[in-house]
Amino acid sequence: MSSQKLDVVVREIAEEMKAREDRGEVARYIPQLARADPEAFGIAVIDADGEAHVGGDADVPFSIQSVSKVFTLTLALGKVGDRLWRRVGKEPSGTAFNSIVQLEHESGIPRNPFINAGAIAVTDVILSGHQPREALGEILRFMRFLADDLTIAIDEGVAGSEQRTGFRNAALANYMRAFGNLENPVEYTLGVYFHHCAIAMSCRQLAMAARFLAHGGRNPSTGLNVVTAERARRINALMLTCGHYDGSGEFAYRVGLPGKSGVGGGILAVAPGKASIAVWSPGLDASGNSHLGRIALEALTRRMGWSIFGA
Ligand code: GLU
Repeated sequence: MSSQKLDVVVREIAEEMKAREDRGEVARYIPQLARADPEAFGIAVIDADGEAHVGGDADVPFSIQSVSKVFTLTLALGKVGDRLWRRVGKEPSGTAFNSIVQLEHESGIPRNPFINAGAIAVTDVILSGHQPREALGEILRFMRFLADDLTIAIDEGVAGSEQRTGFRNAALANYMRAFGNLENPVEYTLGVYFHHCAIAMSCRQLAMAARFLAHGGRNPSTGLNVVTAERARRINALMLTCGHYDGSGEFAYRVGLPGKSGVGGGILAVAPGKASIAVWSPGLDASGNSHLGRIALEALTRRMGWSIFGA
């Protein structure tokens, strides 16, 4: 891969995205997210040599929201291994991120770890045996370690506001608890969940944190194995099939990479063997995924020939 070509492509994409008029709708369910600048666009691509190719607002921190679910899944798998799949499924949901309907039909077992219910169950697994503060500390330390950046922090304003207004997430958690699929007090599990969704990171930090997923579980810069190659492959498979809620099929069709979106407008994507990628633009499409983020990733995979389904 020519690193020069990648540099040019990333810069072109940032310029093209900044110039577009169609930007989607910024999430409005809490004021902290509604205040995000709809004009913002950032992209960071870390190649196999660890070189960063960035464009636009790549160093502006934003609320990573559901992108955090990739990392909590990684931690929970590290803690309990395949036993995790007794608590959460591996199938696409075909419903909105905060849907409750399938929980009733499936005995309180959420469809996958990336819808809210599934991520709450995963958080509960990480929390078991710990105080909420310890569990949250573990998640934050993991993010800082992966990104090699100690400045990564939680936006307490976002976390507090999610906590005050998260009635639907509270409903999901209580519903799972009623089926015996939460082990800890609901308010503890939700507290940790809201706080890890409120971690603020830039595109560069997110792309850095995901290097292990692009390189068989190993951070190519340090040579350290974060997870086994098999586990990295499986996390990528879940991102491909479930990472964009009800827009996962469309994302696979257009972009052709494993990816995970968040309502803060971030998308993390993985080009296996080639690069880890993060894009951010706060305007969302109808499925709650970053509108320009998806368009930018589609342009990147097309121009670089990176779709996992063929160039
Ligand atoms: N904290 C958000 C929620 O639970 C995350 C949603 C998302 O990013 O999709 O509603």
